[in-house]
Amino acid sequence: MRKKHSAVPFVWEAGEICYDEYRQVNRMREKIHQWIRDHAEEIIALGDELFVHPELGFKEFETGRILKEFMEKYQLKVEREYAVTGFSVSIGQGSPHIGIIAELDAIPTPKHPCADPISKAAHACGHSTQQVIALAALCAIKENCRDLKGKITLFFTPAEEFTDLEYRKELRKEGKIRYLSGKENMLYEHLLDDVDCILHFHAMGSSDCRFSVNSVLSGFTYKKITFEGRAAHAAAAPDRGINALNECTLFLNAVALLRETFRDEDVVRVHGIIDEGGQTVNSIPDKVVYECYVRSVNPDVVLDLNRKLSNAAECCAKALGGSCIIEDTPGYLPLHQSKELNEVVYENMLYFTEAKNIKWNEISAAAGDVGDICMFKPIIQYGYGGFTGRIHGEDLFVSDREEVYLVQSELVADIVADLLSHPEKVKKIKESFTPKMTYEEYLNYLNQ
Ligand SMILES: [Zn+2]
Repeated sequence: MRKKHSAVPFVWEAGEICYDEYRQVNRMREKIHQWIRDHAEEIIALGDELFVHPELGFKEFETGRILKEFMEKYQLKVEREYAVTGFSVSIGQGSPHIGIIAELDAIPTPKHPCADPISKAAHACGHSTQQVIALAALCAIKENCRDLKGKITLFFTPAEEFTDLEYRKELRKEGKIRYLSGKENMLYEHLLDDVDCILHFHAMGSSDCRFSVNSVLSGFTYKKITFEGRAAHAAAAPDRGINALNECTLFLNAVALLRETFRDEDVVRVHGIIDEGGQTVNSIPDKVVYECYVRSVNPDVVLDLNRKLSNAAECCAKALGGSCIIEDTPGYLPLHQSKELNEVVYENMLYFTEAKNIKWNEISAAAGDVGDICMFKPIIQYGYGGFTGRIHGEDLFVSDREEVYLVQSELVADIVADLLSHPEKVKKIKESFTPKMTYEEYLNYLNQ
């Protein structure tokens, strides 16, 4: 068993509670941890099974089946189903009400050894580990903390990765979803309305720290540009064609030249792929499709830069005699976390490691639809280690099963138990939070 960093938890050092309560908190902690260690084999087996069953967003049917089978063993029932493959499970009742979010989907990573041969999906973002951590923590609390008052809801959320969009647009046409990501649909359905605060956590790739707290994530707009030209024989009559690939090349040069205007503090990224680069080598391409994300931690920069890119695309196409069609889809909003909730998380982390192994306030160019939730609720997403390789890379694997599946489950259970046994902490978290937009403003933003 891994040695705990300190036998004396933060609460005692901070002098916030009396000795009896300190002993009670510690007894509960020990019971939770013991339960997780006693069930280590099945928790790790669940993690191994889920890691080799990667599925893309809104297609996580097998993932859901595996999780529900595990839930049944502990008499946990699905409370609500939503957004095609999403479902929630609750224990307890009343207040405080703590939400936990675990993402269900995988990401296309064709070279990953565990990639699905047909969909190419792999758990290169480590979402399968979130599912195990959250569920094991919930089971540990259910079995060991019967005296705690309040409610916990675990939301298994589909489709975090913004990918496979044509399929999602079909689902939208069929009326099965309203928006393209899982959490956008959950917000639309008001599923989080009666939750006081929300815990979320995400794998880090190989890293020099053990945990990362209170980082800022970027927001983005998804942009698709179809450059249009005119086909002609590529060797015999290029003068009679209009080359859509040249239009796209000119545009990409304009984007490269704009890069000197990006300010470091805005953490700007424009990254894209050419989906369709032409039709046949011996004809001038008359259609080229380019798609990209425009990202920044500053939402105003995303809007402004997006306008500049539209302008550049139109002008570059026109300069060569062609035209273009631009389709913009709002992506995710930047994540700004609840500092007060992160302080509770941090205090619980100190039970497992020294402060120097916990990184604070990182600014990341990555994005997630948790960013949308932070507009309405106090939410956090901390990072946890135990992996090798690069996030979204073909080499991303769990390297330390004990750290990922057992220690993290213990930590999440500790945090939840801490919040439920100290409603005043939840009160402080709620009181220091102000919603950043109304639902109406949010839906207007999504519908633009
Ligand atoms: Zn992810």
